[in-house]
Order: sequence, then C-alpha cells, then structure tokens
Amino acid sequence: MTDLATHLARLEGHLARFRAGGILNLIGGQDVAGETWFETRSPVDDSLIATVALGDAATVDQAAQAAKAAFPAWAAMPGAERKALLHRVADMIEARAEEIALCECWDTGQAWRFMSKAALRGAENFRFFADLAPGARDGQSLPSPDHLNITSRHPIGPVGVITPWNTPFMLSTWKIAPALAAGCTVVHKPAEFSPLTARLLAEICHEAGLPPGVLNLVNGMGEGAGKALTEHPDIKAIAFVGESRTGSAIMKQGADTLKRVHFELGGKNPVVVFEDADLERALDAVIFMIYSLNGERCTSSSRLLVQESIADAFHARLVERANRIRVGHPLDPATEVGPLIHRTHFDKVAGYVAIGQAGGATLAAGGERLGDKGWFMRPTLFTDARPDMRIAQEEVFGPFLTSLRFRDEAEALSIANGVAYGLTGYVWTNDLTRALRFSDGLEAGMIWVNSENVRHLPTPFGGVKASGIGRDGGDWSFDFYMETKNTAFALGRHKMQRLGL
Ligand code: NAD
Repeated sequence: MTDLATHLARLEGHLARFRAGGILNLIGGQDVAGETWFETRSPVDDSLIATVALGDAATVDQAAQAAKAAFPAWAAMPGAERKALLHRVADMIEARAEEIALCECWDTGQAWRFMSKAALRGAENFRFFADLAPGARDGQSLPSPDHLNITSRHPIGPVGVITPWNTPFMLSTWKIAPALAAGCTVVHKPAEFSPLTARLLAEICHEAGLPPGVLNLVNGMGEGAGKALTEHPDIKAIAFVGESRTGSAIMKQGADTLKRVHFELGGKNPVVVFEDADLERALDAVIFMIYSLNGERCTSSSRLLVQESIADAFHARLVERANRIRVGHPLDPATEVGPLIHRTHFDKVAGYVAIGQAGGATLAAGGERLGDKGWFMRPTLFTDARPDMRIAQEEVFGPFLTSLRFRDEAEALSIANGVAYGLTGYVWTNDLTRALRFSDGLEAGMIWVNSENVRHLPTPFGGVKASGIGRDGGDWSFDFYMETKNTAFALGRHKMQRLGL
C-alpha cells in the first residue's frame, strides 16, 4: 500500500503546474485567465494550493456563447459517436485516477480510502451514460384512431451545471456525463472551495476529443459567476447541487429567463433502528453513513432514531466505535476522517456543538477540534436529543450525529418525517411488513432497508420537500436535459370542422 510520504511526493508533482500558472478557466477549448484571482487552500494546514482565475458575468457570457456555438453540431452528432467519445473520457479518467484522487484529498480534506474509488466512480458515470447516448432521442408511438402520434426527444440546449465542494469530482461527472450524452453543451461552475479536480475533468474531456465549447469551465463565486450563469438567456437549464437556500435563490434568479431547474439539495436523513434489527450490521451502517466522507455528504444519516428498548446498549457501542475512528491526514491510507473543507465550514460545525449543548442534548463523543493546524474535528455524537432541537432539525454537514429515542413505529415515523428535508431514509428491521409499511410512509426520495447507501446508476436519485426537485439516474436524467416533442400524423381524411362556408 502506498504511504503518506509517497502520496505527498506524487501530489507535489501534480500540483507544480498549478502553483506556477494558477488554475485557469477553459472556454471554447482555450485556457482563459481572469483579470483577478482567488485562492484555494488545503484544509489540512490552510496552505495555499494555487490561485484560481476568478470568472465573472463577462466570463460566463463568453462561456455561454462558446456552448451555444458548439451546440448544433454536438446535438446533431450521431449518438454512437458521442458514446465513443464519452467512453474515451472514462478511459482517461481511469488512467489519471490516482492524480484525481490525490488532488481531491488535498483540496477537500476527503480521505484517500474513499477518494481513490471516487475517481473510478466518475469514470463509471461516464460509461453508464455513454451507453445510453445512442437511444437518448428515442420516443414512443401513441396511435389514436385518426392519428399516429410519435414522440421524440431533443437536447434542450446549452445548460449550466453548478456543483458543491463535497466529493466534487464524482458529483460533477454525475451531472455532466448525462448532459453530454443527451447532446447538450455545458458550462460548469464548480464550488469555489474545490476547483482542482473540476479543472482536471475539463482537461480530460478536451484531451479525449470533445469539440471546443462542448464543456466549458468557469471558476468563480456563487453570487458572481454562479448567479450570472443562472440568469444567462442562452443557458436553457440549470442542474444544481448544493444547499436548499441556494436552490431558492437560483429559482428566483432564473425566473426571468424561465430556466428549467433540477435541484439536489440538503438533507437531515434519518436512520431508524428497530429493536428486532440485525444490530451488528445496523451499527456498522450508522457509523459508516455519518462519519465516512467526513459527514460532508448529502445522503448521510445524520439523525439516528433508535428504539427505546435498545438505545442505551446501542449508544454505548456507538460511542466506543466513534472514539476509535482514525482522524488524520487525508492522504494517509489509514485515515478514516479527514479535515473539514474550510475554516468557515469548521466554524459552522463547531457552532452546532455549542448549539447542541445549549439545547440540553448529551455530548457523548467528540465535539472538539483536533490539533491546531487545519480543520480537523473529532467524530461527534449527541444523544438524548429532542426532535425540536436545532441539532435534530438543521443540516450540519459534518461528522456529527444526533440520536433520538422512540417508543413505537408511529412515533418513529412522526420524528422521521418531522423535518423540512426529505432526501434519504434508512430503515433497520427484520419485520418485513413493518419495513414495507414504514418505508411507504417515509417522506424521502430514496430509502434503503437493511442497507447503507449503495448506488445503482439506473435508479432515480433525488429528494422531496426541501431536499430537491427532479430526479437523476437512467432515463430520468434525459428527461431533464431533453425536450419531448410530439408529432401527430393524420392517418386519413378524418372529419374536420369547416368554418366560413
Ligand atoms: P452551496 O449551495 O453553498 O454552493 C453550491 C454551489 O452553488 C457552489 O458552486 C456555489 O458557488 C454556488 N452558488 C452559491 N450561491 C449561488 C447563487 N446565488 N447562484 C448560483 N450559484 C450559487 O453548497 P455547498 O456548501 O457548496 O455544498 C453543500 C450542500 O450541498 C449541502 O447542503 C449538501 O446537502 C448539498 N448537497 C446535496 C446533494 C444531493 O444530491 N441532494 C449532493 C451533494 C451536496
């Protein structure tokens, strides 16, 4: 296994060109520097990684024009050719998986053990949608007695993709690959905290042979480049992943140009453990789904709902395991939890420790910073929380678990559904009828029974309530990136009304 020192040495090799020349935008196949720059710093020690070209409304306009110019040819390219190109992108992601993973760990603080696979999952996303490209335009035949109705699908046009900083590479491919497979051209605005791997993805796409303008990269701030993208008249749709309140802002910003939007937003997802569950596996899943990826994960199970009869014993084992989780350098293969992305985010998560204590919940594990350099936080557990407490209602987005007790199924469902969000839910029980009944009543877009979050790419991905609008995955992605057209052909001389005779 490669060790930390080797990882750091290899990372240095990959970063050298960014340290020298900054991270540039990529528009119409050309590198574009900014008038001004911003900095990206490592969460490990707050050191400068590189300066980044700051895109503004003019940069976004340039990118939108490039995407508009590239659209007709890209949309008209036979699906089989797009498929081949997107597979080539996947090949190149695989070939550079280590570089991507090293950069992702250093830029975001995510642990190597997870990021080494995230790049490969990005490649899988490209392959999955590449294979669907030849059939993307397929429609239905819907005959009536007088007419043959035929539907077909057409790419909507240039689209904007706005992504957050948590596992940014994998997440960007999840949005960009279906857009490209559908025949749309893209302007990507990555999160300002994690520009590194977005640049690698744009480079890979161009080296793989994507025509200039098909994928454009504009770095910048949300209220600058991000806002301009959502307001641009030539951008037909916005695929957005991020906070719920940013989703609201984007909906308002896009109103004048009637933007189609797809939102993947926040969560406060329950994991519900009934007394009859396989408690050993439930414990593993609870720990994995809140502390992996530093808890900076939209689908994390950040609320544990545990049945009263087993709560004390379950908590005792949870505390023991949480305290043993290895917090450390993200490039150390042994590390399980790395530093939080940024000082502002660390302050937010630490703020919720104070909020939990002030609210009267029990701090059973963690809660404190580790070391005096970087944004490391011990895995945190609050027990005996009440459903109305802020730590049981609001998304913390860190290695921070809030546990609540319930007496029976009805109370569990009421607590589970008693939040603004509805992204995922996890149910642990060996009672089949209860599993069916409970998951049917749960307000969430995605539910796993006796499982942690295991993705299957053809399934729909998305949330209800404040967790999102729309679905990704399989054909659902094409529904968003494409327009459906119906054409009715008369089958004969059907009776027609004749006016003005
Ligand atoms: P964020 O909303 O602050 O930022 C996301 C992106 O939006 C960034 O690129 C940012 O620059 C941009 N942005 C900010 N303001 C904007 C504006 N007014 N107009 C246009 N763009 C704007 O989110 P974040 O802090 O980067 O990410 C964490 C959030 O993302 C969490 O709430 C998490 O749950 C959510 N998330 C959801 C999913 C999902 O699938 N549901 C997946 C990952 C993350």
